[in-house]
Amino acid sequence: MAHGLTPAERDRMVASLESALAAVRGAEVTTDCRDCAHFESPDRCGMWKAKIPPGAMQHGCDAWEEGVPF
Ligand code: SF4
Repeated sequence: MAHGLTPAERDRMVASLESALAAVRGAEVTTDCRDCAHFESPDRCGMWKAKIPPGAMQHGCDAWEEGVPF
């Protein structure tokens, strides 16, 4: 048996990966303050050194950064 993919196998794999990529690109992302590296419990931002207004908590801001993942 030869190594490699047949053209049809390759095309199916490319279509499958493109579909998965589109799903990931379309996924909702969150910048909730509680998931940000600068968040200080219960309601402060270490970056801006300010209390986070309740209405802003779930949206965060443009300075959102990935925090420790646990
Ligand atoms: S998203 Fe912005 S406001 Fe919220 S904790 Fe992070 S840096 Fe502060």
